[in-house]
Amino acid sequence: MSEAPVRILLVEDDEDDMVLTRQLLREIESPAFIIDWTEDFNVGLRKIREENHDVCLADYHLGAQNGVEFVRTAVEQGCTVPIILLTGQGDHAVDIAAMNAGAADFLNKRQLTASALERSIRYSIQQHRAEAQRIRLLREQAARAEAEAANRAKDQFLAVLSHELRTPLTAMLLTLTTLEMEAETTPKMRELATVIRRNADLEARLIDDLLDLTRIARGKLELRRELVDVHEQIGFAIRTCCGSDIDSKGLAVTVNAAARKHHVWGDPARLQQVLWNLIKNAAKFTAPGGTLDIQTSNEEGRIQISISDNGIGIAPEALPKIFNAFEQADRSITRQFGGLGLGLAICKALVELHGGRAKAASEGLGRGATFTIELPVVSADFTTRGTGDLPETLADPNRQPVHILLVEDHADTAAAMARLLSRRGYRVHIASRMVDALQIAAHTAFDILISDIGLPDGSGLELIRTLSQRRPVRGIALSGFGMDEDLERSRSAGFSEHLTKPIDFNRLEVVISRLISEPTPAAAPAEVAK
Ligand code: ADP
Repeated sequence: MSEAPVRILLVEDDEDDMVLTRQLLREIESPAFIIDWTEDFNVGLRKIREENHDVCLADYHLGAQNGVEFVRTAVEQGCTVPIILLTGQGDHAVDIAAMNAGAADFLNKRQLTASALERSIRYSIQQHRAEAQRIRLLREQAARAEAEAANRAKDQFLAVLSHELRTPLTAMLLTLTTLEMEAETTPKMRELATVIRRNADLEARLIDDLLDLTRIARGKLELRRELVDVHEQIGFAIRTCCGSDIDSKGLAVTVNAAARKHHVWGDPARLQQVLWNLIKNAAKFTAPGGTLDIQTSNEEGRIQISISDNGIGIAPEALPKIFNAFEQADRSITRQFGGLGLGLAICKALVELHGGRAKAASEGLGRGATFTIELPVVSADFTTRGTGDLPETLADPNRQPVHILLVEDHADTAAAMARLLSRRGYRVHIASRMVDALQIAAHTAFDILISDIGLPDGSGLELIRTLSQRRPVRGIALSGFGMDEDLERSRSAGFSEHLTKPIDFNRLEVVISRLISEPTPAAAPAEVAK
C-alpha cells in the first residue's frame, strides 16, 4: 500500500539550495512530497500557521533573520508543525539553539543525503503525531473529569432541590391527615382537603420521578429483591393507587389473571411503581365509561402482563418514541392531562433492570392502547417468605404504650407528626435539636427513635451513633434526601429504616409496628463507647 503524500513547507532564501533540497526529496522513493516553497521569513510564518503542512524545512540563513528565530517565532505563535532546521556551518551552538527554540531536528546541509533527510522527516512527523495523540488524550481526560464533576454537581443540586421541595410537602400532608381525622371537619372541607392531597401527592411523585431518572441515567438504581406475587401486586395497584381515578370515571376494569406462574424475583416497590404507572396512564387516557382490561399469561419462563384500554390511543409515528424520557405522544392532547413524560421511561428502565421487556401497541388515535411487560418468573417456593402481609396495627388497646422520641427541627412537621402519633396511642417526646434529644434520652426510656437527618446542631446520624453507645436503639431516619448513598449512610449509622419526605403516615406506622415486633437490636460495639 502506498503512503499518503507528505506536504512540506520549504523556507529557503537561496534558490540553488532550494533546487538541491528538491532533488534530494525526489530521490526518496516513498512517500511522495508536495513541496510548498517560500524564500520569505514572514510568508513562511503565515503559511505554517494557516496552511496544513505535515513538516517544515527551514534554512538557517533567511535574509536579515535566521532559522532559529523562525522556529522560535513559529512556536510562540502556537505552531505545532514540526520544523527541521537546515544549517550550513556545522556550528554546534546553532544546533543547540535550534533545539532549545523548539525545532524537531537539525541537519547539516553540506553533508545532507536523501536517506538522512528521509529519516529526519519521518522521525519528526512521527514525534509530532505521538505528541498530538498525547495532547488529545489529556484533553479527553480533562473533558471527562469535567463532565463527571458537572454530573456530580447536578446530582447534588437535584438532591438538595428535592430535599427543599419535600420538606414543606411533609408538613402539608401531615396537617391534611390531621384535618381529615378531626371529627368536626365538614364533608365540604374533606372534599377540599382531598384536592390538596391529590396535588401534593402529585408534586411528591414528580420529585421522585426526577430523582429516579437521575439514578437510572447513572446506573445507580438498585433493586431490593424478594419473592413477589405479580397477581397480588396488580390487585394492590388497582385498589390503592388507581381506585379513585377508575371510580370517578366509571371505568369498567376486567382482570384476567390467567398466568399459572406469577411469582418473580423482584423489588415489590419498584414493580408496584411500574404497574401503578401503566394502570394510571390507561385510566388517565380513557374517557369516562371506558374499559380497562388487565391480563396475565405465561410464555417460556416469563409472565406477560398486558394493560389495555379503549382510550385516546397512540399515533403510529409516536409509538417508537413512547418510552423516551420527556416524550409525550401528542402534546396538544396530553397536555390537558398533566405529567412530564417520565413515567414510561422509568417503567421501561425498571422492567429491564428486572431482566424483562416493555412494549407498547396501538392501532392508532382513538383506538386504545396496550402496554405489555414481560418478566422472568421463579417458582413460588423459591423462598418460604410470604409477601404482602402487613404487620398488625398497633391500635390494640391492650398493648403497652410505645414511647417514641421524635427529633425534628421543622416545627410544623414535628407538631403534625406528634399529633397523629398521639392519636394512634403512641407516647411522643419531641426534641428539635440533638442536645435536647440526648437530654430526653438520658431520663426517658423510649422504644423508637424517629429522627430527621439534618438537625440544627448536628445530624440524626450522629445522634443515633451516640445513643447506641448507651443502649440498643431502633431508629427510623426521616430525610428529604432519598439517594441510595443517603439510605446507605442512614443504615450504616444504625437506623433500621430511612423514610423520604414527604412522609406517608401509613407507611411510617407499618414500619413502627414492624420494628416493635422485631427483637431488640444489638448495642453498638464497645470500642466506640466513651
Ligand atoms: P406522562 O406523565 O406524560 O403521562 P408517561 O411517560 O407516563 O408520562 O407517558 C408518556 C406519554 O405516553 C403520555 O403523555 C401519552 O402521550 C402517552 N401514553 C401513555 N400511556 C398511554 C395510554 N394508555 N394511552 C394513550 N397514550 C398514552
